Amino acid sequence: MQKVRGILIGRMQPVHNGHMEVIKKILTEVDEIIIGIGSAQLSHELKDPFTAGERIVMLNQALSDINVDSSRYYIIPMQDINFNAIWTSHVKMLTPPFSIVYSGNPLVKRLFEEDGIDVRQPPLYDRLHLSGSEVRKRILADEDWMELVPRATVDLINEIDGVSRLKSLSVKEISDL
Ligand code: NAD
Repeated sequence: MQKVRGILIGRMQPVHNGHMEVIKKILTEVDEIIIGIGSAQLSHELKDPFTAGERIVMLNQALSDINVDSSRYYIIPMQDINFNAIWTSHVKMLTPPFSIVYSGNPLVKRLFEEDGIDVRQPPLYDRLHLSGSEVRKRILADEDWMELVPRATVDLINEIDGVSRLKSLSVKEISDL
């Protein structure tokens, strides 16, 4: 029987508990989920500190830790392109076929709707605290960021000395002003 596949695209800078909740919810609705690691070309910037490879490790380990079978997901890095009008074709070129797009991002939703794809807005989980910008802000302020992310994100950030990377980026970007 034909498999139902859904896609979720996010920068995941870093992977946090909101991403994990939404992935779990999507997995109750589809056979397979495609997770696009957006803006894959970016790293070592305050808003985008982690490489695509680092984000893949966080996500893959976090999914394994909650016992999601690896046959049910694909993690695919996706570079941005300068042309929004053909971005959905770019995404489709990189991924297995899918019939549902899950996104809370207005531009992502708009582009796929115009392409005639079924777009669904997943519920937001504690968006006030569960966002990449809140995690990065807390890391820089030495506040508790670990409660917002899965254990796998903590482990990867520790492995690459990510706290110190973010702090040095903040010094550099302020001194560049
Ligand atoms: P993100 O990591 O902020 O969010 C990704 C998704 O995760 C959201 O759509 C939302 O559904 C979910 N999410 C996040 N926090 C949640 C929470 N607390 N509870 C429940 N769900 C939550 O990433 P983003 O910025 O939306 O990523 C979009 C990507 O698509 C970017 O990399 C962007 O550059 C890319 N893009 C590129 C082009 C182009 O290249 N022309 C065009 C459009 C989008």
